[in-house]
Amino acid sequence: MSWDVVIGIETHVQLQTKTKIFSGASTAFGAEPNTQACLLSIALPGTLPVLNYEAVQCAIKFGLATNAEIASRSIFARKNYFYPDLPKGYQISQYELPVVGKGSLEIEVGEIKKTVRITRAHLEEDAGKSSHGAVENGTGIDLNRAGTPLLEIVSEPDMNSAEEAVAYAKKLHELVQWIGICDGNMQEGSFRCDINVSVKRKGAEKLGTRREIKNLNSFKFIEQAIHYETQWQIEMLEEGKAIQQATVLFNPETGETKAMRSKEEANDYRYFPDPDLLPLEISDEKISQIKAGMTELPHLMKVRLESDYQLSSYDAAGITRDKHVADYFFATLKEAAEPKQIANWILGQLFSKLNEHNLSIEHSPIKPEVLSLLLKRIQDGTISNNGAKQLFEKLWLSPDLQIDVLIESEGLKQVSDSGLIETMIDEVLKNNQAMVDEYRSGKEKAFNALVGQIMKVSKGKANPGQVNDLLKKKLS
Ligand code: ADP
Ligand code: MG
Repeated sequence: MSWDVVIGIETHVQLQTKTKIFSGASTAFGAEPNTQACLLSIALPGTLPVLNYEAVQCAIKFGLATNAEIASRSIFARKNYFYPDLPKGYQISQYELPVVGKGSLEIEVGEIKKTVRITRAHLEEDAGKSSHGAVENGTGIDLNRAGTPLLEIVSEPDMNSAEEAVAYAKKLHELVQWIGICDGNMQEGSFRCDINVSVKRKGAEKLGTRREIKNLNSFKFIEQAIHYETQWQIEMLEEGKAIQQATVLFNPETGETKAMRSKEEANDYRYFPDPDLLPLEISDEKISQIKAGMTELPHLMKVRLESDYQLSSYDAAGITRDKHVADYFFATLKEAAEPKQIANWILGQLFSKLNEHNLSIEHSPIKPEVLSLLLKRIQDGTISNNGAKQLFEKLWLSPDLQIDVLIESEGLKQVSDSGLIETMIDEVLKNNQAMVDEYRSGKEKAFNALVGQIMKVSKGKANPGQVNDLLKKKLS
């Protein structure tokens, strides 16, 4: 029997604001426990929330980037539940009227493009953290994170495989960093996904019962958890058992998912508008103003790189995956105007070095000015592509070395003097009459063999383009 997999994703994106969503306490990661727990974070009676407008701006930017409706009026609500890391007894969130409404995100899996609809995105505060074993014989509560601003982005159940779910999560992860609303640090929990999975008979209309895998903070875990969960649900159904709606946890050690609790309903939370906060009103002027200040979106930049700079779709995608890479590309382009060559070097040579050393491009020892000078030396014929690769290795270790001095000291200067090259060609032709005859009798391959001989005589330094041109002339 075959089955369809259906996946919808809720993503918690930690917004990159200096202070918390309803107070002036710092949101910096990694401080000593409770040193960033202000009176509001610990829910001291009498404290009142004041909305941080930076967080609202982040939500608006996200709405604009996903072509979504931005609500002119939205409401903060109290979501009531009891847990040790939530001293107020409720989380401030948005329920009926979220700040960002219906939008969409384009994903690509291989060659196939797909639009994933976004249901909504709403602002809310994060809870604190329970640290089991942090204190002797008990659990420590750290309220540093309490009140950190989150944007919860809810997708429609539009994904049908683990690959699509991962493509969506990656695309969203790239986008929120690109527009500067999230640092994207998944280890620190700045971007975490709840994955809702159900299966149904192939082609059936009605969706199956979902189970929600909570709090995944790596793409690999997302993929593994979906594979396991899907298999588990299919086995249950094939044994004739029913799926219970549930919240489940993924265990990275075993690769399995396990039910944590039966799924709560919205009415369990007794949502109601928070009387301490006014409705959030956003004017059209405010939206236009934020829109005007936003950088070009990655999918638009990708189209531009293809049309204005003739990059392939693959190269353009590589350059627009990360804002820092795009910035690096344009900084290099400013000095050395060969877009295709620059893209090749960034995505090839530079990326493989960065990966090898586990560095992000902002920390590349080779800066755009240095790369562009290196590429210029290929363009003007001073060095060959291979010579440039050797220099790149040297520059990676000592980026302050002068490229032109290095070219001399490494003996990488190409011979571009046509008189000198002609002399070498004459010598090779004289000593390889057999090859010349072969070429003349129609064997194209003999031409390459002759080029090879000339390069050898020049100790690899003759400009290959010139060798080709001059040899052709001599032989015709
Ligand atoms: P809750 O907040 O209680 O988890 P929502 O109605 O907001 O519930 O839905 C959460 C997520 O579950 C959404 O991303 C939605 O797309 C997804 N979802 C809903 N029904 C299904 C289903 N049958 N299979 C898979 N995902 C689903
Ligand atoms: Mg949910």
